[in-house]
Amino acid sequence: MKVYQRLRRYNAAMEKDIRSYSLNQIRDICQTLGQPRFRAEQLIQWLYVKGAQSYDEMTNLPRALRATLAEECPLRPLEIVDKQVSSDGTRKYVIGLADGCYVETVGIPACDSGGSLKRLTVCFSTQVGCAMQCAFCATGHEGFTRNLSSGEMISQVLVVQNDFDMRVSNLVSMGQGEPFQNYDALLEALRFINNKKGLGIGARHITLSTCGLIKGINKLAEEPEQFTLAVSLHAARQEVRDHLMPRCAHNPLPELKQALQHYVEKTGRRVSFEYLLIRDVNDTEKDLEALLAFTDSLLCHINLIPLNDIEDSPFKPSLPAVQNHWLKSLQAHHHEATIRNSKGADIDGACGQLKNKLTR
Ligand code: SF4
Repeated sequence: MKVYQRLRRYNAAMEKDIRSYSLNQIRDICQTLGQPRFRAEQLIQWLYVKGAQSYDEMTNLPRALRATLAEECPLRPLEIVDKQVSSDGTRKYVIGLADGCYVETVGIPACDSGGSLKRLTVCFSTQVGCAMQCAFCATGHEGFTRNLSSGEMISQVLVVQNDFDMRVSNLVSMGQGEPFQNYDALLEALRFINNKKGLGIGARHITLSTCGLIKGINKLAEEPEQFTLAVSLHAARQEVRDHLMPRCAHNPLPELKQALQHYVEKTGRRVSFEYLLIRDVNDTEKDLEALLAFTDSLLCHINLIPLNDIEDSPFKPSLPAVQNHWLKSLQAHHHEATIRNSKGADIDGACGQLKNKLTR
């Protein structure tokens, strides 16, 4: 079936299904139906550990309950509306949700020196669209549609796990959306993913990414889990950052640094910075000096990411000599820094780009 026909079929559905409820709402639904507590946990296990695609598979639930759930909260199979496979093994998916929305998810395999798969990282989305309007991001141009439920986030992990037929080992919330604008659902999803009775992925293998929302950083500092925090910085000069990330302007750099210092003191964990290197926009000597000053005395790791070269985009990647100069300068100032090339660059690597291409 053609991709566009499948998209239309999803559009026609336009309904909520059980995955659009939070895990706590599913517990409430079961309670309302007069079920003991363990039934809700059985249902959640079927949905988010075993990846059941229909109530018929849930053989340890009473038949009458399955019939009621099917009537009241349908369970529709998740559909991979599109999948692209990169020459480096990265797979990008557009997943159709029950209400006609789509999300983008990426599976990134890593091999050991013998060529055997040793790690599988999932980059998942937290929102449909995004309100942050970052200038270099396709999702930002598309605008915000809605938050994803915790179940819709967990389901993305299962889709990748099934497609690779391999356990997911790492997770990053760097797909579509600003994760801290959907904080509660995100934390519910990650706690389940982290829990031994859930997917059992270690907290240190789970990275929460934000474009620098101070309120979210302060909240995360109070959480007991050892999740990793990544901040998409992309500029350490306020005027450049305001240009690239206009909706972050109310989180000014000095206050952001203060919040990060507090986070490091409170948790004892380092922060990861993501810095897209964009030619003549944020890669001048002034920008480098500003980054050195911003990260000075902060326990951190800096990932320099050359921008993907996208046709028609006004933004181009920094020259290789500039990338190397930045790396050496950061290391000379005793910063842990790496140049990280985007995975799957040959299959529409930019944030939100895959989905936008499909739906244009
Ligand atoms: S880069 Fe991230 S935060 Fe910025 S618009 Fe894109 S999805 Fe949103």
